[in-house]
Order: sequence, then structure tokens, then C-alpha cells
Amino acid sequence: MTAAGGSYPVIIVGGGLHGSSTALHLARAGVRALVLEKNYIGRHASGVNAGGVRTLTRHLAEVPLSLASREIWLSIRDWVDDDCGFEQNGQLRVAENDEDVVTLNERYATMTGLGYTHEQLIPADEVRSIIPAITPTVRGGLIAREDGSADPYRTTRAFRMKAQSLGAQFIEGVVVRDITREGGDWVVTADQGSWRAPVLVNCAGAWADRIAARMGEPVPLEPVGPMMLVTTPMPHFLEPVVLGTGRPLSFKQRANGTVLIGGGRLAWVDRDQEKSELDFRGLRAGAQTVCDLFPHMKHAIVNRGWAGIEAAMPDGIPVIGPSSTQKGLFHAFGFSAHGFQLGPIVGRITTELIMQGVTDLPIAPFSIARFQGKAAN
Ligand SMILES: Cc1cc2nc3c(=O)[nH]c(=O)nc-3n(C[C@H](O)[C@H](O)[C@H](O)COP(=O)(O)OP(=O)(O)OC[C@H]3O[C@@H](n4cnc5c(N)ncnc54)[C@H](O)[C@@H]3O)c2cc1C
Repeated sequence: MTAAGGSYPVIIVGGGLHGSSTALHLARAGVRALVLEKNYIGRHASGVNAGGVRTLTRHLAEVPLSLASREIWLSIRDWVDDDCGFEQNGQLRVAENDEDVVTLNERYATMTGLGYTHEQLIPADEVRSIIPAITPTVRGGLIAREDGSADPYRTTRAFRMKAQSLGAQFIEGVVVRDITREGGDWVVTADQGSWRAPVLVNCAGAWADRIAARMGEPVPLEPVGPMMLVTTPMPHFLEPVVLGTGRPLSFKQRANGTVLIGGGRLAWVDRDQEKSELDFRGLRAGAQTVCDLFPHMKHAIVNRGWAGIEAAMPDGIPVIGPSSTQKGLFHAFGFSAHGFQLGPIVGRITTELIMQGVTDLPIAPFSIARFQGKAAN
């Protein structure tokens, strides 16, 4: 099909990881979806994130989904013919002080009380043996040994390429401007043409609230701009991804020696212009945390910084599931700066909902209905 239009069983708006994963799972089930993307696949959060593949310290509602997604990550090459740069070096949240120790102890108690075993409390000497370069004042940590990291753009592209090889269609450079209903079909219109489908999936990331609002279910989505720094290559000193407890930090060294620093400090974003502006004070605070934990990082040279545009929900968990107002509409957005790891499973969940009307994963906490009557403008 060209960009002029056509009919499809499913149209997905948004070609990030969630849109591409949904297209892949649908294609594996024999359904050839159309993905419409206003830029290029992976242009926004999915292509520029920190690549953290983290089950560690997830919101409790997300834990079952995150563990199910981990199973896909562990065999990612079988799914998308590419290892996506996935390295299973673990993720480790470190305690810097008494308060952090209490926070991690409480988390561990909660998780073991619920029967989860993937997060383990480790003492300071074990943290230091895993990361000899860390400050000797570290007080301990909480580790998920099966976690890791991957290359975000490569991952999103791999999902797209695999989905495409199985029959999914991707059209880039198409801004969906209008969505109407004609009989049993959605009619999705852009400057280049119109496309029809009985099923529509809203994977529009930081712009998804506009589609939801058009469907009569406004949500208080906030576009945010998590920032990243990357250094020039350094001698190897770090295996796991290191996370802060009382202070925001995500810290990892890639195989090429560069060190990625992120963790939630925010840039200013303008989602209409698709632009962000770095907040250097926030970056400085993040760099200070790094130097406190890893004294030798004082000598690191920052090569560049950037921010992505991400959809944050006020309760910090996404919207996943059927529309509460419209038949044939499904949402998957609002991943609140931790949706990369969930990408593989959310495509499966959305596919199950479309094909069977149910999923065996517990998605009730992610219902869009939780915001009814609570949306911002
Ligand atoms: C800097 C940064 C670091 C992060 N680090 C991590 C991490 O370490 N681990 C983790 O798990 N998560 C992380 N995240 C979060 C993760 O990247 C996102 O949650 C996830 O990628 C969201 O994917 P998505 O497909 O919902 O959205 P996106 O990737 O934003 O895709 C949505 C797409 O929809 C398109 N679109 C929107 N409106 C329209 C329209 N009208 N017409 C056509 N197309 C449209 C957009 O152009 C966009 O490409 C991070 C995010 C950022 C920004």
C-alpha cells in the first residue's frame, strides 16, 4: 500500500516500541496491521532512552507485566532476529545513607511478602565486590541480577523490521490529524490520505492524550523530557546498571566504554514543536550524584546530552487496555519514563485484547477509566 490510503484489520497510531511491538505480535497472530508514524520509527522516547531493561523496584501493579516482559527479553533474538544489544548485567539500586537502607529494606520485605524473589538485598561488601570503583561509603543495595540494558533505537528498529517481514505495514512521515467513525470502521486521516480499520490502537506516546480526548476519555497526561548525558569512552569499570535510591540516578557503562547518565531529571519540552531544552542545573545535580558514588568520574569528559519526549501519568503507571467509551479502540501509552522494558509484553497484551478480548496478565490497574472525571484540560 502507498501513503494514499486503504483498509486494514488494525491501525496503530505511533511507531515507538509499543506500536512496533503491537504490530509484531499481531503479525505473528496473522493480522497485518498498519502503523502510522508522524516522524520515523523510534524518533521519540523509544529510540533515545537509557535502554534500561529493569524489573527492579517496579510499581507493584507493573511487576507481573515486567516479569513477563523479561521472558521475552531473555530470548529477544528469537523474537526479532537481533539481540538488540541486550546485555544481562543486572540492575543494582544502591543505598547511600540510613534512609536509603530503610527504603531498600522495606521494599525487600514487601516483595518477599508477595512471594517475589527477583529482587535481592545485598550487603555493602557485596556491592563493593560487584563494583570495586564505587565509593567505600556505600551502605548496601537491592539487586535484580537478571536485569540489564539494551540499545533502544536498535530494539525499536528490530521490532519494526520483524513485524514488517511478517506482513505489517509501516508508513512514516504521516501525522494523524483526524479520526472519525463510519459504520463499523475507524477512518484515520492525515494530509497524505485516509485509512480505514475496525480496530484502532493508540500508541501515540506523549501525544496520546489528544487521541483519548477525541474519544471522550480525557487523561491528565504530562509530556516530560527525561535528560541523558554520555561521556567519552573510559576504561571498563562497571557491569550492572546502577540506580540511586534517595537521589535520581541511572548509571551504566556500555560495551564501548562510554558511560550513560540519566535517571529522571527533566528538560523543558514543547511537544508541538517536538523540541526540548536541557536544564543544565539538573544535569549538574545528576553529575554530582555520579561523582559522589564514583569518585573517579570527576575526570570523565561529557560528550553530549539530550532529552526525549515522554508521556507521564500522575500515578506513574501507564494506560493499557480497551477504551472505556469506544468499541474497537485500545490504548497503550503513558509509560512514565519506564516503558522500554515493558514494550515486548505490552504488544502481546494488546494483541490478546484485540483477538480474544482478554489477557491473562492483570491489567485492571492500567484502565483508562481510572481518570474519568480527573483529567486536566
Ligand atoms: C531519556 C529517556 C530515558 C528513558 N530510559 C528508560 C529506561 O532506561 N528504561 C525504560 O524502561 N524506559 C525508559 N524510558 C521510557 C521509554 O523510553 C518510554 O516509556 C517508551 O519508549 C514509550 O514508548 P511509546 O511507544 O509509548 O512512545 P514513543 O516512543 O514516544 O512513540 C510514540 C510515537 O507516536 C508518534 N505519534 C504521536 N502522535 C502521532 C500522530 N498524531 N500521528 C502519527 N504518529 C504520532 C510519535 O511521533 C512517536 O514516535 C526513557 C525515556 C526517555 C525519554
